[in-house]
Amino acid sequence: MGKEEFLSWQVGSVKITRVAELGGPPFPATFMFHEATPELVQRYAWLRPHFAHEDGRLFGSIHSFVIESGGRRIIVDTCVGNDKARSIQAWNLLQGPFLADLALAGFPAESIDTVLCTHLHVDHVGWNTRLVEGKWVPTFPNARYLFGRREWEHWSSEQAEHRDGDVMGDSVRPIIDAGLAKLVDMDQALTAEVRLEPTPGHTPGHVSVRISSRGEEAVITGDLMHHPLQCAEPELANNFDVDAAAARRTRREFLARYSNRPVLVLGTHFAPPTGGWVVDAERNWRFEIVPPADSDKA
Ligand SMILES: [Zn+2]
Repeated sequence: MGKEEFLSWQVGSVKITRVAELGGPPFPATFMFHEATPELVQRYAWLRPHFAHEDGRLFGSIHSFVIESGGRRIIVDTCVGNDKARSIQAWNLLQGPFLADLALAGFPAESIDTVLCTHLHVDHVGWNTRLVEGKWVPTFPNARYLFGRREWEHWSSEQAEHRDGDVMGDSVRPIIDAGLAKLVDMDQALTAEVRLEPTPGHTPGHVSVRISSRGEEAVITGDLMHHPLQCAEPELANNFDVDAAAARRTRREFLARYSNRPVLVLGTHFAPPTGGWVVDAERNWRFEIVPPADSDKA
């Protein structure tokens, strides 16, 4: 990494830039979906070459989107983060150049005024904090951090299942303690052009992000879908869905709502080129790539 290609999209007067933390080699589909066989992946030729390998493994990505709207700079999801003890080996005690890349893309951490976590899973809150002299401090000191109220209530309760290390303790509570957090409703407006959209299931308070500007529209999925494969196979449950049935319902509703319309769908874990249209297909839907407006080589 370091030499990162920053994909960006213009939606009316809003600009959205993708800054990646992790991508790389293909992985077995079962890492995301217990029930996905290589044969199932191979059935959909349109997944290749960007989203699937010929052998049926999948490509994915962990990235943030920075939304520039009305003078604001909103970072959507903050990836895995550095120095964090995690149970998934590829995410454990990372030492990546994400913050440098973010600055290289034009967004030094101090310039971010809003952090939005679509949900409070390990790969969406990591860069909320960084380790300074043995303490977790807010990475974005001038930002308001928006967490869904419903989401916060779920993960801060005793009953919630935590299996990824102390995600709340190292990446969420320090933000609350610093007084930078704001708990928001699932349909909160962030600017005149950007608002949250409730998409519960993967987690109870999960939200997507809707962008509308000058007649153009986009939506950032969050984890209501993890891979374009789920356009064709919306019943395919992600291994980390808290409520798989609700997630399926939300996914089908989302795909029906945004298909065959000029709404740019930006997948939170979709490998480059990451953005596209959802269109009708022989079986359910498929994801049709939209080339980004411009991609600056850093
Ligand atoms: Zn995720």
